Amino acid sequence: MGTNGKPHLAVYKLSSCAGCQLQILNLEDVLLDIAGAVEIAYFPMASRRMDPGPYDIGFVEGAVTEPAEIEKVKTARQQCRVLVALGSCAAFGGLPSMKNRFPQHEVERRVYQRPDWIHSVAARPVSEYVKVDAILRGCPIDTSEFLELVKAVLIGIRPRLASHSLCLECRLQENGCLFDRTGCMGPVTAAGCGALCPGLGRACEGCRGPAEGANLAGFARLLEAKGYSRRDVIDRFQKYAGAEPSMAVAATALAWEEAHA
Ligand code: SF4
Ligand code: SF4
Ligand code: SF4
Repeated sequence: MGTNGKPHLAVYKLSSCAGCQLQILNLEDVLLDIAGAVEIAYFPMASRRMDPGPYDIGFVEGAVTEPAEIEKVKTARQQCRVLVALGSCAAFGGLPSMKNRFPQHEVERRVYQRPDWIHSVAARPVSEYVKVDAILRGCPIDTSEFLELVKAVLIGIRPRLASHSLCLECRLQENGCLFDRTGCMGPVTAAGCGALCPGLGRACEGCRGPAEGANLAGFARLLEAKGYSRRDVIDRFQKYAGAEPSMAVAATALAWEEAHA
């Protein structure tokens, strides 16, 4: 809590595209209200002002992909009373975790001119290194969920964040089902985005990570029965949440079966 009595908020960035931080800045209509309720004490993308910790609530965007970021995330944990993984990179490894299926030195060699200068590690979620109090799903995050979380922390209640399947949300909106035509990931993906992609006639690609209790093995069999190759299925599982434990186990089991068929 700052000297002005307002809770202090911090936003940290690891390896990411900054799209989730941009979503916060896009909250133009309510950003002044947020700034009235909390002190935005550390948010380098938004302000040159950087007050030292401790902070009441901290958001970490991005996956951990280098040793310096391991230290950064440990510092964030020490500085913040409540620590939130902001977006699928921080929550599940996100798109950066696609590199984990290749040897690290091979990735570095392909991307950088001087790989000998690079010291990267496999892309991991923040929770791999420190305790996380909440996650905000999505690539990028949904702004209404961000506001729900900030409000919940301010008044000391549990935030209402969806973890059931996206299909429920999609059917409530009376969208036509795209599964047969596209292999939509909705049945195993967590709701909360308003079924954005199916609502626009596009398949869900699973950017919010697995729904609670998702039957990933059963869903893989369903996709294969529809004609998708084993490699297609594994790629879908590893796209946004490849480092999330249940997705990682499911993808590894599929790859093992493929190798030993
Ligand atoms: S979750 Fe998506 S939008 Fe957010 S930082 Fe990662 S890549 Fe960017
Ligand atoms: S379109 Fe996708 S999210 Fe919607 S009901 Fe069908 S499978 Fe579920
Ligand atoms: S429909 Fe799927 S891919 Fe699209 S925003 Fe929602 S969770 Fe992400």
